[in-house]
Amino acid sequence: MSKSASISRTPPADVRRTLRSEVGFGCPKCGSPHLEYHHFDPPWAELNHHNSNGMIALCASHHAAADSGAFTQEQLRTLKRSRYATVQSSFEWRRKHTVFVCGGNFAYRCNSMLRVRGIDIVYFEVDENGYDTLSLNIYDTCMNKIFEMRKNDWITRTNIDDLESPPSARTLLLKSSIHRVDIRIEFKDRSMLDNAEQNTAARFGISSEENVVFCYFNGDIPAPLPVKFNARNINFRGMTLEGNYISHSGVGVHIG
Ligand SMILES: [Zn+2]
Repeated sequence: MSKSASISRTPPADVRRTLRSEVGFGCPKCGSPHLEYHHFDPPWAELNHHNSNGMIALCASHHAAADSGAFTQEQLRTLKRSRYATVQSSFEWRRKHTVFVCGGNFAYRCNSMLRVRGIDIVYFEVDENGYDTLSLNIYDTCMNKIFEMRKNDWITRTNIDDLESPPSARTLLLKSSIHRVDIRIEFKDRSMLDNAEQNTAARFGISSEENVVFCYFNGDIPAPLPVKFNARNINFRGMTLEGNYISHSGVGVHIG
Protein backbone atom coordinates (compact mmCIF):
# COMPACT_ATOMS: atom_id res chain seq x y z
CA MET A 1 0.00 0.00 0.00
CA SER A 2 1.38 3.41 -0.94
CA LYS A 3 1.71 6.08 1.74
CA SER A 4 -0.84 8.32 0.02
CA ALA A 5 -3.48 5.55 -0.08
CA SER A 6 -3.49 5.30 3.71
CA ILE A 7 -4.62 8.84 4.56
CA SER A 8 -8.20 9.66 5.48
CA ARG A 9 -10.25 11.52 2.89
CA THR A 10 -11.32 13.95 5.63
CA PRO A 11 -8.72 16.72 5.82
CA PRO A 12 -7.08 17.52 9.20
CA ALA A 13 -8.76 20.26 11.26
CA ASP A 14 -6.12 22.92 10.45
CA VAL A 15 -6.49 22.32 6.68
CA ARG A 16 -10.30 22.49 6.95
CA ARG A 17 -10.07 25.76 8.86
CA THR A 18 -7.65 27.26 6.30
CA LEU A 19 -10.01 26.31 3.46
CA ARG A 20 -13.10 27.67 5.25
CA SER A 21 -11.30 30.88 6.13
CA GLU A 22 -10.06 31.64 2.59
CA VAL A 23 -13.64 31.60 1.24
CA GLY A 24 -15.01 33.65 4.15
CA PHE A 25 -16.75 30.62 5.74
CA GLY A 26 -19.32 30.35 2.92
CA CYS A 27 -19.38 28.45 -0.40
CA PRO A 28 -17.84 30.85 -2.95
CA LYS A 29 -20.60 29.99 -5.44
CA CYS A 30 -23.67 30.37 -3.22
CA GLY A 31 -22.65 31.51 0.29
CA SER A 32 -23.84 28.36 2.07
CA PRO A 33 -21.83 27.82 5.27
CA HIS A 34 -22.33 24.03 5.16
CA LEU A 35 -19.00 23.22 3.58
CA GLU A 36 -17.23 20.16 2.24
CA TYR A 37 -13.65 19.94 0.98
CA HIS A 38 -12.80 19.31 -2.68
CA HIS A 39 -9.41 18.06 -3.91
CA PHE A 40 -8.66 19.34 -7.41
CA ASP A 41 -4.90 19.74 -7.92
CA PRO A 42 -4.29 16.91 -8.13
CA PRO A 43 -7.75 15.28 -7.80
CA TRP A 44 -8.15 12.79 -4.95
CA ALA A 45 -8.46 9.89 -7.43
CA GLU A 46 -4.98 10.70 -8.74
CA LEU A 47 -3.31 11.31 -5.40
CA ASN A 48 -4.54 11.15 -1.82
CA HIS A 49 -3.32 14.43 -0.33
CA HIS A 50 -4.40 17.33 1.90
CA ASN A 51 -2.39 20.13 0.31
CA SER A 52 -4.64 23.16 0.82
CA ASN A 53 -3.27 24.87 -2.32
CA GLY A 54 -4.97 22.19 -4.42
CA MET A 55 -8.19 22.10 -2.41
CA ILE A 56 -11.26 24.31 -1.97
CA ALA A 57 -14.22 24.50 0.44
CA LEU A 58 -17.57 24.18 -1.35
CA CYS A 59 -21.16 23.35 -0.32
CA ALA A 60 -22.36 19.80 -1.01
CA SER A 61 -24.08 20.65 -4.31
CA HIS A 62 -21.19 22.72 -5.69
CA HIS A 63 -18.80 20.02 -4.48
CA ALA A 64 -20.78 17.49 -6.54
CA ALA A 65 -20.64 19.85 -9.52
CA ALA A 66 -16.87 20.22 -9.07
CA ASP A 67 -16.47 16.42 -8.84
CA SER A 68 -18.33 16.07 -12.16
CA GLY A 69 -15.90 18.50 -13.81
CA ALA A 70 -18.05 21.65 -13.89
CA PHE A 71 -15.11 23.95 -13.05
CA THR A 72 -11.62 24.26 -14.49
CA GLN A 73 -8.67 24.32 -12.12
CA GLU A 74 -8.19 28.00 -13.00
CA GLN A 75 -11.82 28.76 -12.08
CA LEU A 76 -11.42 26.89 -8.79
CA ARG A 77 -8.27 28.92 -8.01
CA THR A 78 -10.26 32.12 -8.61
CA LEU A 79 -13.11 30.84 -6.41
CA LYS A 80 -10.61 30.19 -3.60
CA ARG A 81 -10.14 33.97 -3.41
CA SER A 82 -13.91 34.77 -3.42
CA ARG A 83 -15.75 35.73 -0.26
CA TYR A 84 -19.35 36.49 0.62
CA ALA A 85 -19.94 39.53 2.85
CA THR A 86 -22.57 37.69 4.86
CA VAL A 87 -22.96 34.03 5.64
CA GLN A 88 -26.38 32.77 6.60
CA SER A 89 -28.42 29.61 6.89
CA SER A 90 -31.17 27.98 8.89
CA PHE A 91 -31.40 25.08 11.28
CA GLU A 92 -34.19 22.53 10.80
CA TRP A 93 -34.65 20.33 13.90
CA ARG A 94 -38.09 21.83 14.54
CA ARG A 95 -40.23 19.90 17.02
CA LYS A 96 -43.24 20.55 19.25
CA HIS A 97 -41.05 19.55 22.19
CA THR A 98 -37.53 20.95 22.49
CA VAL A 99 -35.38 20.90 25.60
CA PHE A 100 -32.84 23.74 25.43
CA VAL A 101 -29.66 23.05 27.38
CA CYS A 102 -27.72 26.23 28.02
CA GLY A 103 -24.58 25.93 30.12
CA GLY A 104 -25.90 22.80 31.87
CA ASN A 105 -29.26 24.40 32.72
CA PHE A 106 -32.40 22.99 31.12
CA ALA A 107 -35.27 25.03 29.69
CA TYR A 108 -38.59 23.81 28.33
CA ARG A 109 -41.53 26.02 27.41
CA CYS A 110 -39.69 29.20 28.46
CA ASN A 111 -39.50 32.56 26.75
CA SER A 112 -35.87 33.32 27.48
CA MET A 113 -32.84 31.74 29.12
CA LEU A 114 -30.74 34.90 29.43
CA ARG A 115 -31.78 38.54 29.28
CA VAL A 116 -29.11 41.19 30.01
CA ARG A 117 -30.14 44.81 30.53
CA GLY A 118 -33.40 44.24 28.70
CA ILE A 119 -31.80 42.47 25.72
CA ASP A 120 -32.66 38.83 25.12
CA ILE A 121 -29.36 37.02 24.45
CA VAL A 122 -30.55 33.40 24.40
CA TYR A 123 -34.29 33.04 23.92
CA PHE A 124 -36.94 30.74 22.55
CA GLU A 125 -39.86 31.32 20.20
CA VAL A 126 -42.60 29.12 18.76
CA ASP A 127 -42.73 29.39 14.97
CA GLU A 128 -45.88 29.71 12.83
CA ASN A 129 -46.24 25.90 12.74
CA GLY A 130 -46.05 25.55 16.51
CA TYR A 131 -42.46 24.31 16.61
CA ASP A 132 -39.92 25.40 19.22
CA THR A 133 -37.01 27.43 17.86
CA LEU A 134 -33.81 29.03 19.14
CA SER A 135 -33.01 32.73 18.88
CA LEU A 136 -29.72 34.42 19.77
CA ASN A 137 -28.27 37.92 19.86
CA ILE A 138 -24.50 37.60 20.12
CA TYR A 139 -22.53 40.83 20.48
CA ASP A 140 -18.80 41.39 20.20
CA THR A 141 -16.77 43.44 22.70
CA CYS A 142 -17.78 46.66 20.86
CA MET A 143 -21.51 45.76 21.13
CA ASN A 144 -21.72 45.08 17.39
CA LYS A 145 -23.94 42.13 16.65
CA ILE A 146 -21.50 39.44 15.46
CA PHE A 147 -24.11 36.70 15.11
CA GLU A 148 -27.90 36.74 15.07
CA MET A 149 -30.31 33.82 15.07
CA ARG A 150 -34.04 34.35 14.85
CA LYS A 151 -36.31 31.30 14.97
CA ASN A 152 -33.47 29.02 13.80
CA ASP A 153 -32.54 31.33 10.85
CA TRP A 154 -29.07 32.78 11.36
CA ILE A 155 -26.68 35.30 9.87
CA THR A 156 -23.17 36.46 10.67
CA ARG A 157 -21.64 39.59 9.19
CA THR A 158 -18.47 40.73 10.85
CA ASN A 159 -14.95 39.40 10.90
CA ILE A 160 -14.71 36.06 12.60
CA ASP A 161 -11.88 33.57 13.08
CA ASP A 162 -13.88 30.48 12.35
CA LEU A 163 -17.33 29.21 11.57
CA GLU A 164 -17.94 25.50 11.06
CA SER A 165 -21.30 23.92 10.31
CA PRO A 166 -20.99 20.64 8.37
CA PRO A 167 -23.56 19.71 5.67
CA SER A 168 -25.74 17.84 8.20
CA ALA A 169 -26.47 21.33 9.66
CA ARG A 170 -26.69 19.74 13.11
CA THR A 171 -23.90 21.73 14.76
CA LEU A 172 -22.38 25.18 14.52
CA LEU A 173 -19.14 26.53 15.96
CA LEU A 174 -18.38 30.25 15.79
CA LYS A 175 -15.20 31.91 17.06
CA SER A 176 -13.74 35.38 17.18
CA SER A 177 -10.77 35.40 19.55
CA ILE A 178 -10.19 39.15 19.32
CA HIS A 179 -13.81 39.68 20.40
CA ARG A 180 -13.75 36.76 22.87
CA VAL A 181 -16.78 35.14 21.23
CA ASP A 182 -16.81 31.36 21.16
CA ILE A 183 -20.20 29.69 20.77
CA ARG A 184 -21.30 26.16 20.03
CA ILE A 185 -24.77 24.96 19.04
CA GLU A 186 -25.76 21.32 18.72
CA PHE A 187 -29.07 19.57 18.04
CA LYS A 188 -29.79 15.97 19.05
CA ASP A 189 -32.80 13.92 18.00
CA ARG A 190 -34.40 11.45 20.44
CA SER A 191 -32.48 8.58 18.80
CA MET A 192 -29.22 10.27 19.88
CA LEU A 193 -30.20 10.92 23.51
CA ASP A 194 -28.44 9.16 26.37
CA ASN A 195 -30.20 7.93 29.52
CA ALA A 196 -29.69 11.21 31.40
CA GLU A 197 -31.25 13.16 28.53
CA GLN A 198 -34.16 10.69 28.27
CA ASN A 199 -34.72 11.18 32.02
CA THR A 200 -34.62 14.97 31.59
CA ALA A 201 -37.30 14.77 28.90
CA ALA A 202 -39.43 12.62 31.21
CA ARG A 203 -38.87 15.06 34.08
CA PHE A 204 -40.39 17.81 31.89
CA GLY A 205 -43.41 15.54 31.28
CA ILE A 206 -42.49 14.75 27.65
CA SER A 207 -43.71 11.21 27.04
CA SER A 208 -41.39 8.64 25.47
CA GLU A 209 -43.81 8.50 22.50
CA GLU A 210 -43.24 12.15 21.61
CA ASN A 211 -40.69 13.48 19.17
CA VAL A 212 -38.25 15.57 21.13
CA VAL A 213 -35.08 17.43 20.25
CA PHE A 214 -32.36 18.56 22.62
CA CYS A 215 -30.71 21.83 21.59
CA TYR A 216 -27.39 22.66 23.29
CA PHE A 217 -26.01 26.18 23.52
CA ASN A 218 -22.56 26.61 25.09
CA GLY A 219 -19.70 29.03 24.89
CA ASP A 220 -18.39 32.43 25.93
CA ILE A 221 -19.97 35.78 25.14
CA PRO A 222 -18.29 39.10 26.05
CA ALA A 223 -21.20 41.57 25.95
CA PRO A 224 -23.41 43.21 27.16
CA LEU A 225 -21.92 41.29 30.09
CA PRO A 226 -19.29 38.52 29.99
CA VAL A 227 -21.12 35.21 30.46
CA LYS A 228 -19.71 31.71 30.19
CA PHE A 229 -21.97 28.80 29.30
CA ASN A 230 -19.87 25.79 30.33
CA ALA A 231 -20.80 22.12 30.01
CA ARG A 232 -22.12 22.11 33.60
CA ASN A 233 -23.01 25.68 34.50
CA ILE A 234 -23.52 29.33 33.60
CA ASN A 235 -21.05 31.84 35.07
CA PHE A 236 -21.40 35.62 35.30
CA ARG A 237 -20.26 38.22 37.82
CA GLY A 238 -18.76 35.48 39.99
CA MET A 239 -22.11 33.70 40.22
CA THR A 240 -22.86 30.19 39.07
CA LEU A 241 -26.11 28.65 37.90
CA GLU A 242 -26.01 24.89 37.76
CA GLY A 243 -28.41 22.04 37.07
CA ASN A 244 -31.65 24.06 37.00
CA TYR A 245 -34.77 22.74 35.30
CA ILE A 246 -36.77 25.73 34.15
CA SER A 247 -40.19 25.26 32.58
CA HIS A 248 -43.24 27.35 31.77
CA SER A 249 -41.47 30.50 32.88
CA GLY A 250 -40.85 33.90 31.36
CA VAL A 251 -37.12 34.50 31.76
CA GLY A 252 -34.67 32.02 33.27
CA VAL A 253 -32.03 34.61 34.19
CA HIS A 254 -32.46 38.36 33.96
CA ILE A 255 -29.32 40.38 34.71
CA GLY A 256 -29.95 44.07 35.17
ZN1 LIG B 1 -22.56 26.31 -3.07
